[in-house]
Amino acid sequence: MIAEIIASGSEMLTPFRQDTNSLYLTAQLNELGVSVAFKTIVGDNLEDLTGAARVALERADIVIFSGGLGPTEDDRTREAVAAALGVELRRDAQIVTAMYKRFAERRMKMPENNARQADVIEGAEVLANANGSAPGQYIDTVVGRHRKIVVLLPGPPNELKPMFEAECRPRLAATLPERHMARRMLRMALVPESQVDARTAPIYKKYKDVDTTILAGSAEIQLHFVCAKPTEAEAQARVDELAEKIEQEMGEAIFSSHGESLEEVVLLMLGLRHMTLAAAESCTGGLLAQRLTAVAGSSRYFLGGAVVYADRLKTIFAEVPEELVRDEGPVSEPVARAMAEGIRRRTGASVGVGITGIAGPGPGAPGPDAGKPIGLVYIAISYAGLSGGTSVTELHITGDRERVRWWASQHALELVRQGLLERT
Ligand code: ATP
Ligand code: MG
Repeated sequence: MIAEIIASGSEMLTPFRQDTNSLYLTAQLNELGVSVAFKTIVGDNLEDLTGAARVALERADIVIFSGGLGPTEDDRTREAVAAALGVELRRDAQIVTAMYKRFAERRMKMPENNARQADVIEGAEVLANANGSAPGQYIDTVVGRHRKIVVLLPGPPNELKPMFEAECRPRLAATLPERHMARRMLRMALVPESQVDARTAPIYKKYKDVDTTILAGSAEIQLHFVCAKPTEAEAQARVDELAEKIEQEMGEAIFSSHGESLEEVVLLMLGLRHMTLAAAESCTGGLLAQRLTAVAGSSRYFLGGAVVYADRLKTIFAEVPEELVRDEGPVSEPVARAMAEGIRRRTGASVGVGITGIAGPGPGAPGPDAGKPIGLVYIAISYAGLSGGTSVTELHITGDRERVRWWASQHALELVRQGLLERT
């Protein structure tokens, strides 16, 4: 069973509005075991809409329309669908009466063109709209010996969602074979997408009944697995089996196998080792602290730290020797190392992180940092006690200020995670 979603509305062909209804509808259809093979966005134009409806009826079993059910001239979905199916529209007296009543209750006179909302496609069931005046329509029909389900839903999300929930989903569920979806997500930081795909494709390609998607962005790769089966247990077993094989291949590059964020994983690992973390941040300006403190319960393992942007503050809050900053420059390996060690000592944390770099838009300041390029970042991780030692990583991150800052925070978290893996 494949579906097509058609969003009608000229506003979604401008740079200002997005079609979000189709995201919601896709999630709902997937839950019912239906894949969405096509999404179409059409402007408010009868000819175009009729054409899109014809194409969709050719290639999909289920066609869901969103929008264009209002009372105005540009609301043409009913007419387009009727034309594509080759059937008539009939004005439903009961709906007209209900609309007059709705207006009367609000002490308003119903404009004449509102009655267009009562035009029902021959053979359609009318779907009640709990939050608006335009009813939806549900058509279960046969086109050229193929069964087709066509649904018309209103555009406003606060009308579409409850209508789908109450009126459409139960009808689809009663029609479709029982399917249950299971999902898994594996997450990796800082591994190139091409490498992930080269290593995992030979494995996931063997699981034809599992939909695998690789999403890359924000210094992270996600592998999503979705499977539909007659029972939940079967679906779950299948995605779990595939996830396990991918985990064997990618090993510790995978930081999360049940959706946890990198921050959550780092905090969890600190907790298991009875360790705490503190950070002295320069170019990331507290981004690392922000990400860690966004996790509920983080205060037990993340003590805090300091944003040491000015050179003087590196000395005051992270005990970086003044002459070190002066001679080496604030963006340097020894300063990062001193920041990590200093903040660890000052806070009594078991792990100290120091981040210093050039986020841009301009290169290093005059003095010892002059000539150092945008994207040069040093990240130092310092461990107290028996597992002690400090390591510094030099990075060259490409992109703008925002990207450099985000990637630096991501690298810092990943370096802490890798360091903790070695310290069980
Ligand atoms: P109305 O009675 O409000 O005219 P309608 O069913 O005719 O409802 P549209 O006119 O197409 O629907 O859209 C009404 C509003 O709903 C739009 O201005 C937009 O804000 C929102 N909307 C429509 N389609 C979508 C969509 N696909 N995704 C998100 N929002 C949408
Ligand atoms: Mg409208």
